[in-house]
Amino acid sequence: MSYVGPDFEPPRPRRSRRPLTVALAALVPGALLGWLVYQAVGGSDGSAAAGGASTPPAASSASAGRSTPPAGSPDSASPRSSPRDDAKPTAAAPGATGSEPLAGKVVVIDPGHNSGNFRHTAEINRKVNIGTAWKECDTTGTATDDGYPEAQFTLDVSHRLRTLLEQQGATVKLTHDRDEPPWGPCVDERARIGNTAHADAAISIHADGSATGNRGFHVILPGSVHAGSADTRPIVGPSRELGERIAGNFVRATGSAPANYVGGGTGLVTRADLGGLNLSTVPKVFIECGNMRDSKDAARLTSGAWRQKAAEGISEGIVSFLRG
Ligand code: ZN
Repeated sequence: MSYVGPDFEPPRPRRSRRPLTVALAALVPGALLGWLVYQAVGGSDGSAAAGGASTPPAASSASAGRSTPPAGSPDSASPRSSPRDDAKPTAAAPGATGSEPLAGKVVVIDPGHNSGNFRHTAEINRKVNIGTAWKECDTTGTATDDGYPEAQFTLDVSHRLRTLLEQQGATVKLTHDRDEPPWGPCVDERARIGNTAHADAAISIHADGSATGNRGFHVILPGSVHAGSADTRPIVGPSRELGERIAGNFVRATGSAPANYVGGGTGLVTRADLGGLNLSTVPKVFIECGNMRDSKDAARLTSGAWRQKAAEGISEGIVSFLRG
């Protein structure tokens, strides 16, 4: 009801407002607050503005679910120049080409679940230690009511995100890709991959499976955990900064609202029960991009154009975080 549809999202004309929005990226919590104020003031009444499926330009069609976005597509290419164009003077190092602002940076993307998990229930039900508890190695994830699986969503967004980050010069590693490995990896291994890669930032991509009417995205931040092999204390601060920047940029890029069922409208939730966060030694967050069980959210999540925007929002948040 208070939901703001994509066509009413104030920063939507992203091309023309790019300089402003990029400048705001350094003030993400403020930007997010501003958006919330905008919403509270009634800057738009959701009028439900349909789903992302009806929104215009972005890259690929809704049917492009399983493929990576076309590298040369306008939307996937456009973010390349924007952060640099508006970079703070200190960021544009003298002598640097400026063409690859994330050169030397490592980002690990963790596509939540795995399409093969359904066929490997014994393996994924095996318990692994996450410091605070023993939990299943992995889970199958959720799906929309029409059967679009979360694992397919997470891999598609991850591919799009990888393309965007590589365009910025980052070295990107996925914790799994297509059928390799055929299931999992387990949550402890997902964390370990980020740690071993000495990732400057790591993100686990998900979509939620909550009740109908529960809408919007949220970013999950690691709580402070010091138990067994888990010690998140050094990453709590930087992970929060990473998460705030992603949340702010995700709002802007997608027009999606922060979740209306967790996080008190902030789009941020702290948890200490996720192995992928507990065992991380590098700045890491999860993002639940929307609720697959809500038909309006599902219309977005199943749209290739919307997924491209989601990837752009996440990418811009990571870029903002890594450039400081
Ligand atoms: Zn998930």
